[in-house]
Amino acid sequence: MAIIHEHYPNAKTTIDTINWLIDFVEEKLDLEPNHIMLADSICSDDVNSIQYPARASEFLGPFKMGGLDGYPFTGLTGMGAFASHVPDEGAIIIYYGPHIGISKDGVIGEIHRLGQSKPSGCCGAAKGALHNLLKDSITEGNVTDLDYQMNIIEQILLKAKDPILAAPLPLKEATDVIYEAINSRIEELAAKTMYTCKYLILVGAIHINSDSDMGSYAAVQKLDVVDLIRHERKSLLAEINQH
Ligand SMILES: [Zn+2]
Repeated sequence: MAIIHEHYPNAKTTIDTINWLIDFVEEKLDLEPNHIMLADSICSDDVNSIQYPARASEFLGPFKMGGLDGYPFTGLTGMGAFASHVPDEGAIIIYYGPHIGISKDGVIGEIHRLGQSKPSGCCGAAKGALHNLLKDSITEGNVTDLDYQMNIIEQILLKAKDPILAAPLPLKEATDVIYEAINSRIEELAAKTMYTCKYLILVGAIHINSDSDMGSYAAVQKLDVVDLIRHERKSLLAEINQH
């Protein structure tokens, strides 16, 4: 945990993050978890399924919005789909963000996976795109059918080439850049969606995976609760981070 906090001082385990959210909806919104539709926009990496916090199953869902590195590739159609599946008096929680591995030895971008003798990349897609950026092999506008999601991640990094290359930890900077791209796309999708429920809760985070015996962490960057009836929006970032 100390190694995780060196890079992400406000990180907490995803288990604690989910526990906080369950307490919040029960105590402050007076809703049962089974009236909440959980959607996530996190990387399709199998580690995210293996390290998915068990109590998340108290919510409905999850609807999976993410593809490579958590970008919401299901778009407006996906957003509209789960928004129409929520109980009338209920709420939507969207947990979103890119992920980054931090091994027990403190190596950024790597984790030890079960049964493997060597560590492997995490996020592999972000690392691959960064590798191509460093090689100068990303062509502006090059988005193919064969590797569509990867090409989109590459285009996101290409737009922020200078700050990424100048950063002391380029992968960490690239992860921040991808977070910003995901966050603005989630906001765009959320604004264009029709809701029939009472609340929309946006939880943006840098999602951190560690070795197979360690689990996952969330460094929450945004926690906004939107009252869809009153059209009011409130940030609870300070509350979750001081918890
Ligand atoms: Zn990934």
